[in-house]
Amino acid sequence: MLDLFPLSARIEGGELVLGGLAASELADRFGTPLYVYCEETVRERARSLRDAVGTDGRVFYGTKAFPNVAVLRLLREDGLGADVASAGELAFAVAAGLGGDELVIHGNNKDEALLGEAARLRAPIVVDAPDEVALAAAAGVERALVRVTLGVDADTHEAIVTGHHGSKFGLPPDEALRAVRDALARGLDVLGVHVHVGSQLPDFTAQAETILRLAAFAASCRDELGWEARVADLGGGFGIRHHPDEDVPDAVALAEVAASTARAAFRDLGLPQPAIWLEPGRCLVGRAGVTLYRVGAVKRLPERTWVAIDGGMSDNPRPQLYGARYTALSAARADEQPDELASVAGMHCESGDVLIDDVRLPSPRRGDLLAVPATGAYTLAMSSTYNGVPRPAAVLVRGGEARLVRCRETVDDLLRSET
Ligand SMILES: *Cc1c(COP(=O)(O)O)cnc(C)c1O
Repeated sequence: MLDLFPLSARIEGGELVLGGLAASELADRFGTPLYVYCEETVRERARSLRDAVGTDGRVFYGTKAFPNVAVLRLLREDGLGADVASAGELAFAVAAGLGGDELVIHGNNKDEALLGEAARLRAPIVVDAPDEVALAAAAGVERALVRVTLGVDADTHEAIVTGHHGSKFGLPPDEALRAVRDALARGLDVLGVHVHVGSQLPDFTAQAETILRLAAFAASCRDELGWEARVADLGGGFGIRHHPDEDVPDAVALAEVAASTARAAFRDLGLPQPAIWLEPGRCLVGRAGVTLYRVGAVKRLPERTWVAIDGGMSDNPRPQLYGARYTALSAARADEQPDELASVAGMHCESGDVLIDDVRLPSPRRGDLLAVPATGAYTLAMSSTYNGVPRPAAVLVRGGEARLVRCRETVDDLLRSET
């Protein structure tokens, strides 16, 4: 099970250790629930993905997976830019020191504020609507990619497929070609073409087909417009394992195949070799993150044993949104036999607020610390204050040191917005 945890995870003296720090020490110092991110894991993933795209390629962190200034800064040190999709995410990236050349601006409904900021920073936008080229040009945007939807259904949860016909994202090929023409006519520098198939892709099938169709689309642009794409932005979507029963292909291996497939497909159509851009989110921060919860009420019913934690769907709504499955380790009793089957419930007033249906734990009791691995992506990023529960803190750990990178929200913070 330790292979779901970050690279620095160890069991020492019967206790889970992350980045050289005992889980109980982290919980005592920063409180619970606590999101613990392992710096070593984030950096290892970042460097491996950069290697996968080669020296002319670029990797942009899909900021929405965990919008955090410290993480953006850390990734920038390893040469990564950021993909942002709102004025808020863009502000986070700017706060982390990223400039226009390190950004890709997304969004299926970009507002004026976002386009204006993109123009001010001279960052490229990814055109995602028929009239967006005109709006972007009026705002002063100078560079663009065009997002094309190529009709490939990825075999992932329906909430996170994006590349199919009828998707709210991107433009079908004929409209995308018109957008390229429009952008060129308005004097924009059109860098290239963009696709994003979906998230947590189970294999390479959908992406391979998409890449072939992307090359065909680039060839049709060359034939009809005399314009050649310099960039093939293949989006993100590389998955991670969240549960021991899951079998997910390694993100770096998939990224390498994606890059080589794109190069070959462009070459086969007589197109110049594109620079490969990637926008991974989940696979950069997912495994790096572990959530620590404190166990409160334990109820042993004839039907099952409930273990209630001090968080739940407010800090991690993925079980409710995607049917996500997690596991847990009794972090301070990690060497004890996991002899009891339990269900881990959140503290919210919803029967559906169940984080884990079934997990084996050493007879759980009040005060235990539970560590839930593979929670670094799309958890805090999607958190709410449901039931008036303030959002948890996040720390970055490395070599025996912990750094607070997101303060714990307080009830006073919540009351501040009330009138
Ligand atoms: C969500 C998203 C990503 C990141 O997806 P992951 O599955 O986290 O890798 C990248 N690009 C676009 C356009 C996205 O919408």
